[in-house]
Amino acid sequence: MPRKLLVIALGMVLALMLTPNFKSLGALAEQRASKTLFQYLDELENLDTAAPQQGQQQGQQLVNAPSRRTDEGKGPYKTLVIRGAMLIDGTGGPPRGPVDIVIENNRISRIQGAGTPGLAMRQNRQPRNADYEVDATGMYVLPGFVDMHVHAGGPPKNAEMEYAYKLWLAHGVTTVRGVPLGSNEMSVKDKERSAKNEIVAPRIVNYQRMGVGWNKGPINTPEAAREWVRWAANNGVDGLKLGSHRPEIMAALLDEAKKLGLGSTAHLDQGGVAQMNAIKAARVGLGTVTHFYGHFESLLKDYVVQPWPMEQNNSNEQDRFGQVARLWDKIYEPGSPQWKAYLEEHLKLGTVFDPTFNIYSAGRDVMRMRNADWHDKYTLPTLMDFYAPSRDAHGAYWYYWTTHDEIAWRNFYQVWFKLVNDYKKMGGRVTTGSDSGFIYQTYGFGYILELEMLQEAGFHPLEVFQAATMNGALTLHEPKGKPIEFGVVREGLLADLVIVDQNPLENLKVLYATGAVKLNDKTGKTERVGGIRWTVKDGIVYDAKQLLADVARMVEKQKQERTKMPAGGQGSRTEK
Ligand SMILES: [Zn+2]
Repeated sequence: MPRKLLVIALGMVLALMLTPNFKSLGALAEQRASKTLFQYLDELENLDTAAPQQGQQQGQQLVNAPSRRTDEGKGPYKTLVIRGAMLIDGTGGPPRGPVDIVIENNRISRIQGAGTPGLAMRQNRQPRNADYEVDATGMYVLPGFVDMHVHAGGPPKNAEMEYAYKLWLAHGVTTVRGVPLGSNEMSVKDKERSAKNEIVAPRIVNYQRMGVGWNKGPINTPEAAREWVRWAANNGVDGLKLGSHRPEIMAALLDEAKKLGLGSTAHLDQGGVAQMNAIKAARVGLGTVTHFYGHFESLLKDYVVQPWPMEQNNSNEQDRFGQVARLWDKIYEPGSPQWKAYLEEHLKLGTVFDPTFNIYSAGRDVMRMRNADWHDKYTLPTLMDFYAPSRDAHGAYWYYWTTHDEIAWRNFYQVWFKLVNDYKKMGGRVTTGSDSGFIYQTYGFGYILELEMLQEAGFHPLEVFQAATMNGALTLHEPKGKPIEFGVVREGLLADLVIVDQNPLENLKVLYATGAVKLNDKTGKTERVGGIRWTVKDGIVYDAKQLLADVARMVEKQKQERTKMPAGGQGSRTEK
């Protein structure tokens, strides 16, 4: 929420507090009575919920991830060996194998040939005294994936953090950058619990929005901005998730962040993009541009602002999400001198592009995403409710989504794909972020869709995996001035791995928990192949199928509870 709207928002919250609808938020506020209203507003913003949400059940609260049970994940072991695998190392190098990967505790200690392709694997391969072995014969091993744009949810979508964490791990995501994951308090706590492997969750990197967490109120001056960044650095924050703040604030935040080794990423929201587009932000030191906001506005041909229709109201989400796609033909043409100069300047400045293609994909075909194969088994009914058309749930902007709207989005994607692929081609760094939990994108599944959409944009699958692994790791480590600790399968690095029994270069769909549909010519029946088999984080081997069974149980439980409720009662699922 831009600060200039704070006063209005404050008024809205106070007004809402006087209405019965405020019940659930009121409870939340009560719990946090010791905090200032500003903090409270910021926490709401953290959860990407600026307004009370539909479907919120009374008393529903954020449920922290439970402690890891002894039967969840095996290891870490003094010596763990993954045998006979094909290796995709994440650097962009070609697959090779068979190899044995030796892991000691949580580090990869050796990667050694296991034989010659086409011949039987060598017998009696070292080490012979491993504490645990994974037979990965014929399977593919990749570095754990890095999701650079996540939020963990919370009520009313998914009250339990465990839900998102397990879906991420089951899709090979071993590191998430929360932008933010949740409140600073919760993010710091779960980052620590995950680092100690006390919970079943990916590695957590904690980016937070300006002003979050402290008690000194809104930030209106560059001095206050710098003071907050110093506070953040001392309070467990790894980097800044920025909006399109006004130039002097943006410059102060980024300059101070750089001094303190904090990273930065920005969603250059439409409210402020007229004075802080992507190239202006990069010039004052922004690390990563996430989504597309700010790119198109930097390339406008006939205007300095988007030529909005006269009846535009950006607080109306159908206006907001519908109109942005209309930018596709308002800019300098792909391949034009201005287009090239734009990308070249970003390359020189070292800007990272984190497109999050998937999160807007329902805009080009809402029926496809609403009916995705995985919703029935893996999307919580409360999350499905949150996606359904609603004026007060963020990203549920299908008030009347027309053929015109979908075509605008399809056209928009063609230009956006070209922008990102052209940047890759000239050597620019692209990463993978999902932003799941909104707009029909369920955790984990949205991330794999992101990989598919990078391929659609023109990336070779090896470039897709480079973006998904090494590029993410570099982007997280560079601000700290440290070499990568994960993101590549290399001796000496942490043992974060994905193991899948199909060739993911041939078909990225095998990485979805629901696998890929394939006709079995022997039986004449269709089967589902793939789905990640194991995800290894910090040398701990998680059975991805077991993680998914846990998620399916959570979904089933909620469905059962709903059937017990009276028809039309709270929690019934309706397509509004
Ligand atoms: Zn987001």
